[in-house]
Amino acid sequence: MTHHGGKGPDDVELDALVVGGGPSGSVTALLLARAGWQVELVDRTDFPRGKACGECLNPAGVAILRELDLLEPVLATHPAPLEGWEISPLSEGRARGRFSGPDRALGIQRRTFDHALLEAARTAGVRVRTGTTLVEADPGGRGEPARVLLRGPAGQQERRRSRILIGADGLRSRVARAIGLALPPRGPTRASLTWRVAARGPSRRRGRLLLGRGCTVGFAPVGDPQGTLWNLTLVLTGSDRTGELKGSGWARAIESLGDGGIVWSEPPEIVDGPWGSGSFHRPVRGVVRGRTLLVGDAAGYFDPLTGQGIFRALRSACLAADSLTHGDSHRLPDHVDSADRSIRLHPGDMSRLEQYASTLDHGLRWSRRLQKTIDWTLALEPARRVSLSALRTLPGVASALIRLTGDRPRTLLTVPSPTLPLTNPRKRTSPADAAAHGDSGHLS
Ligand SMILES: Cc1cc2nc3c(=O)[nH]c(=O)nc-3n(C[C@H](O)[C@H](O)[C@H](O)COP(=O)(O)OP(=O)(O)OC[C@H]3O[C@@H](n4cnc5c(N)ncnc54)[C@H](O)[C@@H]3O)c2cc1C
Repeated sequence: MTHHGGKGPDDVELDALVVGGGPSGSVTALLLARAGWQVELVDRTDFPRGKACGECLNPAGVAILRELDLLEPVLATHPAPLEGWEISPLSEGRARGRFSGPDRALGIQRRTFDHALLEAARTAGVRVRTGTTLVEADPGGRGEPARVLLRGPAGQQERRRSRILIGADGLRSRVARAIGLALPPRGPTRASLTWRVAARGPSRRRGRLLLGRGCTVGFAPVGDPQGTLWNLTLVLTGSDRTGELKGSGWARAIESLGDGGIVWSEPPEIVDGPWGSGSFHRPVRGVVRGRTLLVGDAAGYFDPLTGQGIFRALRSACLAADSLTHGDSHRLPDHVDSADRSIRLHPGDMSRLEQYASTLDHGLRWSRRLQKTIDWTLALEPARRVSLSALRTLPGVASALIRLTGDRPRTLLTVPSPTLPLTNPRKRTSPADAAAHGDSGHLS
């Protein structure tokens, strides 16, 4: 190994290099920095940046932010508290389900949400470098650091060696591909378009999910001080429907909202986007290789329908940081600057990486199974018909489903509950809000 910065021959440059500044990357980097690790995070884009997403952070995701002391900066971005979702099989009536547990969901703008988490990581001591793209990666091994080739904002190339490399680079992870963990996309081809729209009329207390054949529309309030912004996401299923999305996507989305019974006092206007994405089912053959691990979407993604992606990103970040720092003896005394510390390949790293692989598999099994069950049910016409009818006619079924997608299965056994203590409580913004207060689990 070569010498770096006058340090010893076995030294590397970083404890951890994180590729990707979305929620999984920022939170992994932040937790490692809090544990005294020397961490660098690179992202190819400049922040703040928008992203294709339904922009609903589910209650379990909110709970993680609270536990990590990160809720405050997120609430400062004015998220919209969501009490649940209304599910409308198009033109066939509606079912309304509420989240439960101490935390509600939040409608967040990814532009401000991701930026807030990235800034929190920077404040925790992470060196953040935007406009910097990972080009190549070597996963390293027991006695070898992970190595990467980066391309900087001016096109300059740079090599870095790190004790641990973290692939947090999303759906089509370059890290996963470079180290041989990515599998070819599977399942039905899906493509999506997301717009940010300004609109007035519908209740802002909940999101709407409109389910048609081969077409899903999500419509949910996202936070802004004026209380007029919404996320509108259209997902089409079937072989290459990207052209159709681009051509008639907007008209289709607006028509579906009308079919779903949404009434405006002022019709929606596009204020940002669209952001495109797809296809979604991106499996991986594993989440660890050598000294490299994957978190968030990079660790395998299935489908956005149940709105669990950000929760999974945050959960995998916590599991990765917990496994990597478990039993660390090198926590720095307060007077030592982490930048002056020698960084070496730690003898316990390999078993900690293995530990991550098994805890991630266990920790996210539940949400993965739920997503697949819902996907299969909706794909088979008889099962789809029966389950949508059950949602509409059996009291409590819609709320049970919504609570499950909130990733708090234990709240199934509890009564609907208290509100999130917001630091910036929002006033009701529409008559429909007032009408919906104290709502039941079920509509016609
Ligand atoms: C249509 C749609 C709707 C969705 N709706 C919801 C929802 O309502 N609720 C929910 O919880 N989840 C939803 N999701 C899923 C959610 O968006 C993801 O699960 C979440 O963003 C994953 O976070 P992440 O940090 O792993 O990756 P990302 O947020 O994708 O961040 C990855 C980062 O890596 C960077 N990057 C990529 N390649 C490189 C490279 N080579 N070098 C450097 N940087 C790189 C990117 O610029 C990006 O900033 C939805 C997804 C889609 C597509």
